[in-house]
Amino acid sequence: MKSYYFIVNPIAGGGKAKSLVHQIERNFRDSGAEFKIYHTRGPRDAIEAASRAAEEGFDIVVAAGGDGTVNEVLNGLVGSNACLAAIHGGKGNDFASAVAMPKGIDQACEALLKSDIRAIDLGKVMDRYFINSVGVGFDAAVALRVNRGVRPFKGTSAYIYAFFEILFSYEPVEMEIDMGSGLLKSDPLLVAVGIGQAYGGGMRIVPDAIQDDGLFDICIFDRMNRLGLVYHFPKVFSGKLKNVEQAHMFRAKEVKLQLSDVRPMHLEGEICFSDHMHFTLEPKGMNVLFGN
Ligand SMILES: [Mg+2]
Repeated sequence: MKSYYFIVNPIAGGGKAKSLVHQIERNFRDSGAEFKIYHTRGPRDAIEAASRAAEEGFDIVVAAGGDGTVNEVLNGLVGSNACLAAIHGGKGNDFASAVAMPKGIDQACEALLKSDIRAIDLGKVMDRYFINSVGVGFDAAVALRVNRGVRPFKGTSAYIYAFFEILFSYEPVEMEIDMGSGLLKSDPLLVAVGIGQAYGGGMRIVPDAIQDDGLFDICIFDRMNRLGLVYHFPKVFSGKLKNVEQAHMFRAKEVKLQLSDVRPMHLEGEICFSDHMHFTLEPKGMNVLFGN
């Protein structure tokens, strides 16, 4: 039987992850599996905790939080033998959805105990690993605006507010995009690089992405007038972005971006700034637990 280490982010999802702890304990006590629960104490603590759990020999390290917690746990586990798992415990749970983890905690615990482990591709950019999707440009600027707080708005309404505010202020920059088949020059609104299909809580920015095909799915979204953007934006949730003329989809094993000015990048909960980004992929570089 596998051993489990839960890394709970007590502030994720406004306390959602923390509220699940009792049910996790009940399910796992009944199962007889070895398990331990750890509550994180601040930003980046989950990286250290995951690394310790792997060193202690736990088989499966479970991120109980949102995508930011998943990313920290991932970064603590890379290079170890431990397997990454995630439960829906945050505002954005795109990785948990990507690995088909059930939303209900009892069903999620059942899936964890069944331990269906598969290797999927592992991405790296700016010395940080990622397992799902990353965005550069407009989308990152919106995420940054939400992170800075848009009181009194919360949750989805905060995103909608930030979307409209950034819509009127974001200036695209020139980019040289190298995906291994010649240089592409453009001034897109955003570039998304994905292993999984969605980010930002269900926004399917690369709706055909396959997690273990050894390739990134890339969306280069051309600049568009504001009205067009408002009109087409909902299509990102329904997976119909491919029907939008301005959305260009590519596949590549490596992506280099050179920007004419610094722009934000959102990396699964973390916002970084740079004028160049180099994305590399390690095929099937990470063992993850699937929900079904
Ligand atoms: Mg892929």
